[in-house]
Amino acid sequence: MSRLLIVANRLPVSVRPVEGGVEVGRSLGGLATGLSRPHEQSGGLWIGWPGTEEELTPEQQSDLDRKLAELRLVAVPLTGDQVTRYYEGYSNGVLWPLFHYLLDQVPLQARDWDAYVEVNELFADAVAEQYRPGDLVWVHDYQLLLLPGLLRRRLPEARIGFFLHIPFPSEELFRTLPARKRLLEGMLGADLVGFHTPTYLRHFATALTDILGLTVDIDRVQLPGREVRLGVFPMGIDAAAFQGLAQDPAVEAEAAALRGDGSVRILVGVDRLDYTKGIPRRLLAYERMLETHPELREKVRLVQVAVPSRTGVGAYQDFRSLVDGLVGRINGVFGTPRWVPVHYIFRGLSAPDLVALYRAADVMLVTPLRDGMNLVAKEFVASRPDGDGVLVLSEFAGASWELPEALPVNPYDTDATAEIFFRALTMEPDERRARLGPLRQRVATFDVHSWVTSFLDQLERVSGPSVRVLSPTAGEGALREELTRALEQNDELLLLLDYDGTLVPFTATPELARPDAALVGLLRSLAARPDTEVHIVSGRSREALEQWVGSLPIWLHAEHGFWSRPPGQAEWTPAADIHGTWREPVLEILRDITARTPGTLIEVKAVAIAWHYRLADLETGARRANELRIHLNQLLSNQPVEILAGNRVLEIRPYGVHKGRIVPPMSAEREARTTILAIGDDRTDEDLFASLPPTAISARVGPGATRARFRLESTAAVRGVLQMVADTGVRADLA
Ligand code: UDP
Repeated sequence: MSRLLIVANRLPVSVRPVEGGVEVGRSLGGLATGLSRPHEQSGGLWIGWPGTEEELTPEQQSDLDRKLAELRLVAVPLTGDQVTRYYEGYSNGVLWPLFHYLLDQVPLQARDWDAYVEVNELFADAVAEQYRPGDLVWVHDYQLLLLPGLLRRRLPEARIGFFLHIPFPSEELFRTLPARKRLLEGMLGADLVGFHTPTYLRHFATALTDILGLTVDIDRVQLPGREVRLGVFPMGIDAAAFQGLAQDPAVEAEAAALRGDGSVRILVGVDRLDYTKGIPRRLLAYERMLETHPELREKVRLVQVAVPSRTGVGAYQDFRSLVDGLVGRINGVFGTPRWVPVHYIFRGLSAPDLVALYRAADVMLVTPLRDGMNLVAKEFVASRPDGDGVLVLSEFAGASWELPEALPVNPYDTDATAEIFFRALTMEPDERRARLGPLRQRVATFDVHSWVTSFLDQLERVSGPSVRVLSPTAGEGALREELTRALEQNDELLLLLDYDGTLVPFTATPELARPDAALVGLLRSLAARPDTEVHIVSGRSREALEQWVGSLPIWLHAEHGFWSRPPGQAEWTPAADIHGTWREPVLEILRDITARTPGTLIEVKAVAIAWHYRLADLETGARRANELRIHLNQLLSNQPVEILAGNRVLEIRPYGVHKGRIVPPMSAEREARTTILAIGDDRTDEDLFASLPPTAISARVGPGATRARFRLESTAAVRGVLQMVADTGVRADLA
């Protein structure tokens, strides 16, 4: 297991300065619990702000340092001014409301960006200081969006994951941020960027295309020199702990006391007092229910826990008055000497009290206007070993994606919400159980431990050596050395060469890529080399290859290996059925999009169809290509066809036909006496590399993540290496 460096705004402790030292208490939040295992088992560190703003005395500071070191925590100290501006000002004043779609809460003039940059830099310094090669770094949340990028600059080889705990908003909203580019680039410093739901991932992907002009390939983004993976990891809770606590006799007794004789049904809301949580609208819906269903008066009560939060941010102070006012109004209008409709608690509860409340609830109201996940919903579910209770859950909480058996509400629709509350209160026991059962199963299975494991497993995988940029030592020099050694040892040589971008540089139109005399000469001398088989495997049509290199005694493979032609023969053999009913509708769409996108063109091949956007402007081309893929994916979902993204080209072709299929099957003996050299430059060549035996020598031309073992800078370098191969053949011949 790699050592794990967890980086989050806060350390999982609370620190209280006392006379001559500090008291350090461990916090019990979900994240802290989930990460404690890998933190301990990997011998790793947790890096973050300890939560103190005031100056500590030297004794207090050294006591704090000692106590944190024992827990393997590393403090990033912040000044009061930094907390006000980075944490309260930019993170919670600008990013938080914007990412939750509450634009009206964003200050008219977004300030404090400079403090946000400065503190992200401080974190980068702190991580770089602790980092050892081989560590996994896991950065958390919206306070540190720039950190992965800053770390990538300081530690180019580091394996970095990033997880966003809040929603990623629609790109239309995200675009309003002046710092939008820098924030995206910051996140792209990671090898793996994780979100709670597919919707957040999609928004992020669209933002990358619209704002940075990048092409997103479902779950990956290609940057010069490396690849970033995107993933969906819905966060879970420590379900076993909640279940255990809910079965504690003291908690059960407290729940029973809360329920009393059962004559008054209990609705429960538990939230931080935050404007995203929908408390005012929830109160309005409750009020509406009491109006429209007067028979419920004195028969129901709402227990609303509101945990004080971010009291230093102006918007939160005003918000508190709003909620206070609404609670007062409802209690004033509907209350009787025997009954208070809203029981309002403005402080945090202990875990046993909280679970007793979950356990006592007839109906749990989780109705945020927008919430990245919402753990309270899952905690309620886990706290109901009795299998009873109804969860009302906002469509706008990330959790709703995973918890479809809850009663969904649109919290903006007060009348409908009131009716859902009523429906929840009057639901039959059978239906309550039928809904809660599957929820409990899911919350227990996908708990916080499985969340941590799945993120870290994927991070280990995607940042492993096979998909990373090779170190500079594996460049042309190393390739030549290994190749020379192999050619000395082996008699036979198998060359598998891509054409465009490998043997010839990219040209403006496909037709301009015809081979020059030097290339024809080089291929001829390679083919003449003893015991040498030359294959050209290209995305080109049969006609193009035939016209350009058809007279040479070499193997030709057209359309990414769909058609093959042995040396000296005229017949091409197809790999699959060539008559596809999908062609005409696809062509129709392509003609339309090509007419609307200057600089793009269609290449019709015998089996495949390619859409090139090399000459379109970068952003428009990438955006159109993404639109096109979404469109075609739908259209072709039932067809044995795949859509392949190459280097500024999309190709639609029959399924399972790729360059890898041209690697000839070889006996172990033949493999042992054969040098295999494969060279290519784009995604389609990765299929070729993936199909090679491990002893083969593979090279990728230009940047990009690759499975190839070596990297060559340019087509000129490729020709240089091939010339060397041709020359060794001549020498061997003479000797
Ligand atoms: N919580 C708590 N004490 C309380 C009320 C809530 O510790 O009195 C915890 C609750 O158990 C949950 C967290 O606060 O783990 C709230 O998480 P959630 O994802 O629902 O919302 P967030 O506050 O992160 O926006």
